[in-house]
Amino acid sequence: MSTLQKNLAIICQNRKLPFVFEEAKAMGVEITFFYNDNESPPPEIPGVVRSIALPLFEDEDKALNIVMLENKVRRIDGVLTLFEPALDFAAKIANRLGLPFLPEFVVEQCRNKNMTRRVLHDNGLNTPSFIEIKEGEYPDIDQIKFPLVVKPTNGFSSQGVTRANNPDELRNAIDKVWEINRTQLKNFIYDKGGVLLESFIDGPEFAIETFSHRGEVTVLSIGNKGNGKGPYFEEGVYIAPADIDEKLRDEIVDEVRRAVKALGINEGPAHVELRIDQKQMPFVIEVAPRVGGSGISHYIVKASTDINFLQLVICYALGMEFSQKMGALVKPISTAGNYIIPVQGDGIFVEIDGLANAREKSEVEYVFEFMEPGHKVLPYPHFSGYPGFILTRHTDHEACESFYNDLQKNLKIKYS
Ligand code: ADP
Ligand code: CA
Ligand code: CA
Ligand code: CA
Ligand code: CA
Repeated sequence: MSTLQKNLAIICQNRKLPFVFEEAKAMGVEITFFYNDNESPPPEIPGVVRSIALPLFEDEDKALNIVMLENKVRRIDGVLTLFEPALDFAAKIANRLGLPFLPEFVVEQCRNKNMTRRVLHDNGLNTPSFIEIKEGEYPDIDQIKFPLVVKPTNGFSSQGVTRANNPDELRNAIDKVWEINRTQLKNFIYDKGGVLLESFIDGPEFAIETFSHRGEVTVLSIGNKGNGKGPYFEEGVYIAPADIDEKLRDEIVDEVRRAVKALGINEGPAHVELRIDQKQMPFVIEVAPRVGGSGISHYIVKASTDINFLQLVICYALGMEFSQKMGALVKPISTAGNYIIPVQGDGIFVEIDGLANAREKSEVEYVFEFMEPGHKVLPYPHFSGYPGFILTRHTDHEACESFYNDLQKNLKIKYS
């Protein structure tokens, strides 16, 4: 029974990451779960009252009709997704039903990396040089300064994102990204393929979680995301708060708040990725108008600040009033992290050696495994999923880092 008398539509969700379901349930919200119909029907999920399949990436109009019909049977009070490729659809639904959501063009200019770059540039934010190319087109090498990053204009999960250091690597990377647009990404991007070239920002990466309310952007947390040099950019560890001085922190806060506003995210969550270049300048890499990592960002914020990120987001989605005033930056109270178990190669996945041991440690709060034995892992830049996440909490940053060093030594993926 829903004690709030509210029905929240959640569109697509990695079922192994339960935070969004758990937080909605804890609020007394009833959940209607719309899942992608190429997946099997979900088993029982906490808080989910009904599950409905949608041909989300095959027949969008049909999917829209299914949701509109469902709304006639039982009124939907809010729409939420944490899945990047479903944001456009969620915006369409919410706008048709007159429910809180960002305008479709705001979602579009976050999803499309060429548009993101343009908006940030036009608003005076730091932006790597960028150019979008057409199929069959190769840029004029004389005009180019290496290293570059080549990426799908509408990609996600780092698929296809490739560093190129010279003309040969650039040609190869461009061909490869077109191929990825046509294969892995095809169903998720409709006809919105495209290839973007950007100058490579060389320096440490950060993930920033924000929440906007009436145009005011609060930075909930800033975390370290390593310092990947490529050629491919597999996700690594995420530790918040970041180990940076106040000056850099304030510069990141300022750049991020301006970027989120420039993109039109006046309400709700955003997950921002940013790098600091050799001159200590912050460059926003991308802004996603959602809670990051299918809910991992919620864990990071909640464990490091005590702010219930998803509760804020669900309140917003349901059009409920909330009084929490948070200012420009929230103060952390503890260190939290996500250790992403690296694929460590490719082949047929068997198991993760050492995981049972890791589970026993007091710092470990959650372990999520994503691969079944027999799963085929392709070499990067193809994305075959993450083997698993280990969510941990520590007294300070150093303790977290040393814990992750041990995990790196002790966890081994077995391939056959
Ligand atoms: P996706 O949407 O697939 O995550 P991103 O644009 O975020 O694509 O790129 C994925 C990763 O690649 C980033 O997190 C970053 O580590 C790296 N990257 C992307 N663009 C750049 C860039 N211009 N300079 C440096 N690193 C980059
Ligand atoms: Ca984006
Ligand atoms: Ca993205
Ligand atoms: Ca990333
Ligand atoms: Ca990204």
